[in-house]
Amino acid sequence: MKKKTQSAFTRRRFTQLAAAAAATPLLAAPQIAKGQAAAHVVVIGGGFGGATAAKYLKKAEPDLRVTLVEPNDSFITCPYSNLVLGGWRDLASITHSYDHLRDRWNVAHAKDTATGIDADSRNVTLAGGETLTYDRLIVSPGIDLRPPEDGGIAGYDEAAYEAMPHAWKPGAQTLLLRSQLEAMEDGGLFVLASPPNPFRCPPGPYERVSMIADYFKKEKPSSKILILDAKERFSKQGLFQQGWDRFYGDMIEWVNLPNDGQVVEVDPATRTLITEFGMEYQAEVANVVPPQYAKAIARNSGLADASGWCPVDGRTFESTLVPGVHVVGDASIASPMPKSGFAANSQGKTAAAAAIALLAGRELANPAWVNTCYSHVAPDYAISVAGVYKATDDGIISVEGSGGVSPMEADEASRKLESVYADGWYKSITADMFT
Ligand code: FAD
Repeated sequence: MKKKTQSAFTRRRFTQLAAAAAATPLLAAPQIAKGQAAAHVVVIGGGFGGATAAKYLKKAEPDLRVTLVEPNDSFITCPYSNLVLGGWRDLASITHSYDHLRDRWNVAHAKDTATGIDADSRNVTLAGGETLTYDRLIVSPGIDLRPPEDGGIAGYDEAAYEAMPHAWKPGAQTLLLRSQLEAMEDGGLFVLASPPNPFRCPPGPYERVSMIADYFKKEKPSSKILILDAKERFSKQGLFQQGWDRFYGDMIEWVNLPNDGQVVEVDPATRTLITEFGMEYQAEVANVVPPQYAKAIARNSGLADASGWCPVDGRTFESTLVPGVHVVGDASIASPMPKSGFAANSQGKTAAAAAIALLAGRELANPAWVNTCYSHVAPDYAISVAGVYKATDDGIISVEGSGGVSPMEADEASRKLESVYADGWYKSITADMFT
């Protein structure tokens, strides 16, 4: 594709902005005042939402200035990190470099952590001391695990992450949990504490258990798996349980909220998990996934409400609390869309398109989205849940009659095909983000 020069962009944009200013003076005014300078969009967070937004901003408007603020050189995906726990994949195969975003798409990479957002002066401050001025800001920083003093599990502070890994952010935690599983004797008890809604990746804990069950079946067949759940039911429950019965017999036990499944306290020294009504379970390996909320940069910048998540306008993903700032991905409140990588990727595109339209004074699109979450249950056996969503004046809604889960009665070939689709989904979404 022929690359446009900066001056061409500026002239074209200036003409558009001048025209737009007449029609929508309030939206376009700050850009007109900038004269010949190309507009600057800053994106915080280079994950599913942010990397996608940065790439698609440049894809749509090559001469826009786009800076991605992300402290890491490469991104490790949560999707397929459960397969690393099961021994099906290694970490390298789920690690993606930012090089193409920089070299192919000319996204500037500020390798730093954003520490503050000043929406009045439209500045982002970085841990290294630099300040970036933006015309529009897209924030996709993901989640934080709630600490004990802020709605988390008593005893489950950062110091406890070593003894009882969460592995809900991939990388060192994934390898730590895997090494604990490898070190466990056959016949041991693995306990996973699953969080209340809303949380990152609703089917994630149950795919994880499936992967670990597959590993135990092959290497430690007398071992047991206990899921202590802070919910009454979970995503794709019937399909998961059908697969568990079939492949893992009575290896997996699930205790839900009404049956005292909610873990309220842990003792990392003895790897003990304590439930709401005082049941104590001592695990050989414990995986604690605590309650969550939007990442600190979003909460500390006034983007989150009392729930800890960030309310947005569903058409643009612009914050309803802080103008000029779009929040996408897990940090946003986009229900009924799930907190998934697929959703964050689509929301990143929506925010990129909206930011460009708002800068240019163009009409906003009316977005609709699809989400599919695949889960592996056993080798050559996967299941999925799909949804179709659209933005309305009343917020985001599920399109009636659309979506659903894999049929319970699907045959072997369909389950196998879904595992092929899952691999294809992973390949294509990571290519969409990073190449
Ligand atoms: P992230 O992808 O986490 O990206 C956030 C980025 O922001 C990170 O790179 C971080 O370094 C950066 N960041 C944070 N704070 C700052 C700051 N202050 N300054 C600069 N950068 C910052 N989803 C699916 O669709 N399919 C799946 O199969 C799937 N499987 C999953 C399995 C597991 C075990 C888990 C835990 C999740 C899974 N998910 C899956 C969910 C998916 O990972 C998330 O929904 C997705 O990552 C959300 O994207 P995001 O952009 O909001 O956050």
